[in-house]
Amino acid sequence: MNNIKQHIEKLREELRQHNYNYYVLDHATISDYEFDIKLKELQELEAKHPEFFDANSPSQRVGGEVTKNFETIVHEHRMYSLDNSYSKEDLLDWEKRIKKIVDDDIQYTCELKYDGASISLTYENGILVRAVTRGDGFQGDNVTANVKTIKSVPLLLKGDFPPKFDIRGEIVLPFEGFNRMNEERIEIGEEPYRNPRNTASGSLKLQDSAEVAKRPLECLLYSLTGNNLDIETQFESLEKARQWGFKVPKAAKLTHSIDEVIDFVDYWNEKRHTLPYETDGVVIKVNDLQQQEELGYTAKAPRWAMAYKFKAEQVSTRLNSITYQVGRTGAITPVANLEPVELAGTTVKRASLHNADQIEKLDIRVGDEVYVEKGGEIIPKILGVDLTKRPIDSESTKYITNCPECFTELVREEGEAQHYCPNYNGCKPQIIGRIQHFISRKAMDIEGLGGETVALLVNEGLIANYSDLYELTKEQVIPLERMAEKSADNLINGIEASKAIPFERVLYALGVRYVGETVAKKLAKHYKSIDALAKASEDDLLNVDEIGKKIAKSVSTFFSSLENIIMINRLKQFGVQLELSAEALFGQTDKLKGDVIVVTGVFETISRNELKRLIEDNGGKVSGSISSKTSYIVAGNNMGPSKKIKAESLGIIIINEYEFLQKIK
Ligand code: AMP
Ligand code: ZN
Repeated sequence: MNNIKQHIEKLREELRQHNYNYYVLDHATISDYEFDIKLKELQELEAKHPEFFDANSPSQRVGGEVTKNFETIVHEHRMYSLDNSYSKEDLLDWEKRIKKIVDDDIQYTCELKYDGASISLTYENGILVRAVTRGDGFQGDNVTANVKTIKSVPLLLKGDFPPKFDIRGEIVLPFEGFNRMNEERIEIGEEPYRNPRNTASGSLKLQDSAEVAKRPLECLLYSLTGNNLDIETQFESLEKARQWGFKVPKAAKLTHSIDEVIDFVDYWNEKRHTLPYETDGVVIKVNDLQQQEELGYTAKAPRWAMAYKFKAEQVSTRLNSITYQVGRTGAITPVANLEPVELAGTTVKRASLHNADQIEKLDIRVGDEVYVEKGGEIIPKILGVDLTKRPIDSESTKYITNCPECFTELVREEGEAQHYCPNYNGCKPQIIGRIQHFISRKAMDIEGLGGETVALLVNEGLIANYSDLYELTKEQVIPLERMAEKSADNLINGIEASKAIPFERVLYALGVRYVGETVAKKLAKHYKSIDALAKASEDDLLNVDEIGKKIAKSVSTFFSSLENIIMINRLKQFGVQLELSAEALFGQTDKLKGDVIVVTGVFETISRNELKRLIEDNGGKVSGSISSKTSYIVAGNNMGPSKKIKAESLGIIIINEYEFLQKIK
């Protein structure tokens, strides 16, 4: 027993260190794969030994706790806002003001102003006990369960930390992760998130912490509060926090005069584009805590700190035209075609206009001089119009009423921002987009077939939906542009090989709106076959774990279309996997090799036949009667009394279904 406990603790310690190396120091010392193996081992041991549960184990980072209503917590120390400055003059004025109060020389700590959601973390005896949002500065929401999933937030501190303190920081969503999340959203027909900051603060308020765990959030810390912390300066507090295991960006610098502060500002004004996350300025803090105390606070902000706001990197350029793109789900996205212009190190030619409301709100017109801004997001934004430069003959933009590709009248559903082309089966970009999604890497992963070839096949009239792929012949594709004998072979072989792709990925490949990889897995696991899924009513779907109204409606609409049913039946005939394979259902192992098992009674979560199949799939043998050869008995409710007596007389162990499932897990 002790051995197991020690082993669990050793694994926790190792994983903690690896998390720290990777998420705080940005320097991994093992591969993701090795990390996952260790984590899995820990999870298995913890499941087997609930007596060693620890809420601060690295295994708890995956989340799972669901919060319906976030509890309101009054901040022990108020979370102030910051005064803003926009120029060197503003900074010099500030210095004059504070020098009237403080006699001595003043040093300043300069930090970046991270643009995310502010958070206050409370640690007691080195353990994270609470995480609270800023709220109105006086009280915020208890989001501890969600914050615990953020890997750069230490659950246990190291080194010489004070027994109790609060530490404040900013939860940010680095550009890379943000862009990746958006690519995935676009893939399943969801609207992309607008910016990292709102997405970060929205994430903190998600009800399901497992969902938060999937988001690549980071926590950057910048200030300590508490009593008797034995710290004299702001800069020292940053260094200490770093030693205790917090992520404190290295940019922070101790400066000795306002001139040096200005150098810092100028430097980062340029260099901020190289940072992995969004910053909107610099925060300058009087370094000496004694001096800070002398300076005190105004009604809303400390006198000893000042934010310097960067000017947003913006340019103005001419809007040449607005075009409309049709996505694979039929969603229409208006695109601004701009006079090419240099911005934040790249040439910008296009910007998203999002939707009709956005165009109307900004009153954007062709011929206008528009302001464009670019953060680390993929698509630049249009912020507004320079009305002084509007041509006199300018006309307000009329949003299109018909699909630019197939001329079908567009629809816009109640509560939706986007217009849609409803011509699901006849609109080329939708057809092509759907097939491109079907063959993509995470879906059917068809080797030898790329997006352009799909477009070509559709345009040549060789295919009109994804099930047509399976009837393509080599002779048909050879005449296509840039197609040689060999590539034609590859294409046909690739399509053939995709018949082995498991059901859950086929389900994702079908391109049902809002059904991403995770949802597809959930549905496949729950319904086990496309037939069962197709029959499920909306209410039925709503009962599946994590399936909400929007998804349920979309799935049920998909299967109510006759065209879709015909297409699925064809896929079935061609041999595409439309149900879970036995392996996927139960997993074949030889964990029960040599076991002779008797099954008796009625079970709660599984049928007797399923249970028998599980035994066989895992290498065990099912026997009908109890004898001295029986290894053990799996008993449900209502086990017959005579069997019980016999088992007892032979000294054979009786286990329940849960204990059995544990064995083959
Ligand atoms: P504001 O919301 O404009 O009043 O600015 C105050 C906010 O800036 C604080 O609530 C923090 O969330 C945020 N902030 C970001 N980086 C820093 C930093 N290095 N020091 C202090 N506050 C910061
Ligand atoms: Zn259309």
